[in-house]
Amino acid sequence: MATEITTPNPAVDGGELIRFDNVTKRFGTNTVLDNLDFTVASGKHVTLIGPSGSGKTTILRLLMTLLRPEEGTITVDGDYLTHESKNGKLIPAGEKHTREVRKKIGMVFQQFNLFPNMRVLRNVTEAPVHVLGMGKEEAEERARGLLDLVGLGDKCDAYPTQLSGGQQQRVAIARALAMRPQVLLLDEVTSALDPELVAGVLDVLRDLAHTTDITMLCVTHEMNFARDISDDVLMFDAGRVIESGPPEKIFSDPEHERTREFLSAVL
Ligand code: ADP
Repeated sequence: MATEITTPNPAVDGGELIRFDNVTKRFGTNTVLDNLDFTVASGKHVTLIGPSGSGKTTILRLLMTLLRPEEGTITVDGDYLTHESKNGKLIPAGEKHTREVRKKIGMVFQQFNLFPNMRVLRNVTEAPVHVLGMGKEEAEERARGLLDLVGLGDKCDAYPTQLSGGQQQRVAIARALAMRPQVLLLDEVTSALDPELVAGVLDVLRDLAHTTDITMLCVTHEMNFARDISDDVLMFDAGRVIESGPPEKIFSDPEHERTREFLSAVL
């Protein structure tokens, strides 16, 4: 049987999976996200592009609850991530509530962050067993399926340091998928890799995008990859979305001068 990638949730298929409403994030006097509104529909692949410092990674870090917004609300699959409701009033979310909502989200970081003291298989089974309470046997069977999917079925017993950076990043993708997230966040996942290792990782992600129904939110400088996998591209500048649309439109016929400048610098 093919390894099932996402948690099926027909109630929200095609509906809104992520919603930012008037989100403002500041660091001191630096307003990094300015009253940001956007949504990602279930099953879609959305890419965030824009100059360095425009706030793209901050969005992913807010979704991972590594940061909290000063204003606004974030919803994941209909549940507030930033808030919870108590006696009919919205209050800032407590740790327990946040943990539950965050289970719907998987993230792959620039630096792969594998557990160096654990073999590859255990890196992938650790969270399903300890966070989701999955039985060890089931977790291992799924982990083997996922490692096959990322082309590393023969590396279950290796330690991370015995793998190339590209292979480690593919383990990190399998590890994120093992939690059956509804959305996968990808934060410049190839930027720490040697150039010859980039294609292998992007191929795995392209396959995932084209053959599964997982929702993806990517920050990337790989414009060809963004063009291949995106349903929608959001162009950021100074904490705002200045332009959005399908990749054919954004990459071939952008409306905003700032988008044209950015693309001519990176393409
Ligand atoms: P991007 O991903 O588009 O390059 P970021 O979201 O990483 O942009 O950063 C947006 C802005 O927020 C930058 O000006 C950056 O310096 C600032 N910033 C990010 N994280 C922090 C932090 N922890 N403390 C202070 N400033 C930060």
